[in-house]
Amino acid sequence: MLAIAPSLTGGYNHPEIPASAVCRRVPGRNAKLCDRGFVKKLIALLLLATFLPAQLLAWGPKGHAIVADIAAARLTPAAKQNLQLLLGGDSLASVSSWADSVRKERDESYDWHFVDIPTDASGFSEERDCFRPQDKHKDALTDHHNCVVDRIEMFQKILGDEKASRADRLEALKWIVHFVGDLHQPLHAIDAARGGNDIKLAVFGSPKCGDYDCNLHWAWDTLLLEHTGHSEEEYVGRLNSLIEQKHLQSQSSGTPADWANESHLQARRIIETTPVAIDDAYYQANIDLVNEKLALAGLRLAAVLNGTLGKAPAAKVSSLSQPAGREH
Ligand SMILES: [Zn+2]
Repeated sequence: MLAIAPSLTGGYNHPEIPASAVCRRVPGRNAKLCDRGFVKKLIALLLLATFLPAQLLAWGPKGHAIVADIAAARLTPAAKQNLQLLLGGDSLASVSSWADSVRKERDESYDWHFVDIPTDASGFSEERDCFRPQDKHKDALTDHHNCVVDRIEMFQKILGDEKASRADRLEALKWIVHFVGDLHQPLHAIDAARGGNDIKLAVFGSPKCGDYDCNLHWAWDTLLLEHTGHSEEEYVGRLNSLIEQKHLQSQSSGTPADWANESHLQARRIIETTPVAIDDAYYQANIDLVNEKLALAGLRLAAVLNGTLGKAPAAKVSSLSQPAGREH
């Protein structure tokens, strides 16, 4: 998403405007914060934000952590051991939003968080959907894998490559844990209204979400999920029950392209049935889908990790010498 939206769990998430870039009067502080250079920079950043493409965050930090928790509990012993060797003392959940935190330094990754499948298309097409030369982001003119589907597959190869460096494998892991989550937020797989970012609407009685207009994409990223009132731990417990009840484990296979097509179909319905405002009735009608997608993302992430790290003997990862940088 454009990410001018505050995340209810993590304060304001705006990838382009640093927290320090706020022109405000603070008692006892020099008002020179608002000097011309600063204001020019702020205006440039705001203009840049206006022309940025759709979707970025997906699920918000809590949603990504829930997906990671669901997956971490379903790893084979070998995959779990290999994963811990890569992560050190960190949990999978603790690195699940790293991809959002590096947007600025890794401008080439901006479009990797989503896939803009045309609304009326019958499904995902790599040729059509993963080349975005119209974008201003780094490498957009040459990157033919500029979408979440291709990136999951590419980073899977690096993660499973025993000859790759530990640092590269750790980074691949951090992209994967985030992107599998992103792909399961339905509005990350449709081009309509920039994945719903341009559909402004009131959410639970307020047109404003913090300082910004609420929008449909943001509601699906974070607001519906947060409206449950569950903590991360409670949420994971409830999703574990849901997985049992609905036998979701049987849907844990498939390819990233399959998952994109699933999300695209759901996104079409979400766009077609856009309400005037998101109220309790809309929440009641849609929270089951939010929950099912979080659960499926966790199950499929586990399948991806077991497939890439589950087969290799743990010694293969442990033998890699270079210590991994700790990000969180
Ligand atoms: Zn993302």
